[in-house]
Amino acid sequence: MGQREGAAGLTTHAPQAAQAVTLPTTLDEAVAALTAVPAAVPVAGGTDLMAAVNSGQLRPAALVGLGKISEIRGWQYQDGHALLGAGLTHARMGRPDFAALIPALAAAARAAGPPHIRNAGTLGGNIASAAPTGDALPVLAALEATLIIAGPGGARREIPVSHLLAGMDMLRAGELIGYVRVPLLHAPQVFLKATGRTGPGRAVASVALVLDPARRGVRCAVGAIAPMPLRPLQAEQWVGRLIDWDNNRALVPEALNAFGEYVAAACIPDAAPAEDGSVPQLPPAVLHLRRTVAALARRALGRALS
Ligand SMILES: Cc1cc2nc3c(=O)[nH]c(=O)nc-3n(C[C@H](O)[C@H](O)[C@H](O)COP(=O)(O)OP(=O)(O)OC[C@H]3O[C@@H](n4cnc5c(N)ncnc54)[C@H](O)[C@@H]3O)c2cc1C
Repeated sequence: MGQREGAAGLTTHAPQAAQAVTLPTTLDEAVAALTAVPAAVPVAGGTDLMAAVNSGQLRPAALVGLGKISEIRGWQYQDGHALLGAGLTHARMGRPDFAALIPALAAAARAAGPPHIRNAGTLGGNIASAAPTGDALPVLAALEATLIIAGPGGARREIPVSHLLAGMDMLRAGELIGYVRVPLLHAPQVFLKATGRTGPGRAVASVALVLDPARRGVRCAVGAIAPMPLRPLQAEQWVGRLIDWDNNRALVPEALNAFGEYVAAACIPDAAPAEDGSVPQLPPAVLHLRRTVAALARRALGRALS
């Protein structure tokens, strides 16, 4: 395998897994490179993609590396929102200055795998992979974030992140996630994650909870227990009405418990009634998961209100 000129006129190499790697320096060059070679696959930190290559699940004909695109590695402010570059790494999002801005996303970033994964793995890769265990995903769902997608010819379109995760709107040929637009709520936010073991690990269940005082709302999303984050909307509305937004926002422990149970039952409902009207017991593992979700939701709300 030899070297060849990249689709965007950039230096290319020839790794074992792909015939060519293009390293564009702007988002539009990356889109052009993908458009010119439809079989090419974008790669950011490579933590998900290279795992698929190494296990033989994926043999990309060519790669378009996103690591040299500086415009998507930071963030900027825009109309009460933060415009986050898709190339932000988990390590960068976990730092204090970012945590002051979007605390729940920083907490999720700090929980996303061991340090070498956090140093390389990016926000855009986490979203595009759309793994149920993606830690950023419930946070973005609770924040009702949107994606700015870059397409051929400099085109940009904006879609809710939930539409991409639900498969209602997919990335089209040549398109890349450029930025994630997140509202700045200036209020407590919490991300909690339960793993199957001590230390870093993939989530068994996770809960992101944000307070939105301007809209007098609580928004919550549960991750890892379904293909995409689940929003328990009725539980959110119920607890939002219970909170005294003008005074101290504390809730009694019984209300926190009830919220946890409400969220868990909404996300993991009882089994359908049998013909004789009896309700079959959920399997023990499912009941355990439901208790885990209830505990995470209760604690997340308690911490956000404390
Ligand atoms: C050992 C290990 C532990 C992990 N633990 C966790 C964990 O605890 N929590 C967690 O959330 N994740 C975890 N991950 C998964 C992974 O690290 C994250 O999902 C990471 O954010 C992926 O980002 P990346 O930049 O490495 O993506 P890549 O591997 O580069 O790409 C992933 C996919 O996204 C596409 N893509 C990348 N960027 C873009 C873009 N801008 N636009 C369109 N498509 C794009 C690629 O084509 C590819 O299909 C773990 C992975 C490993 C290997």
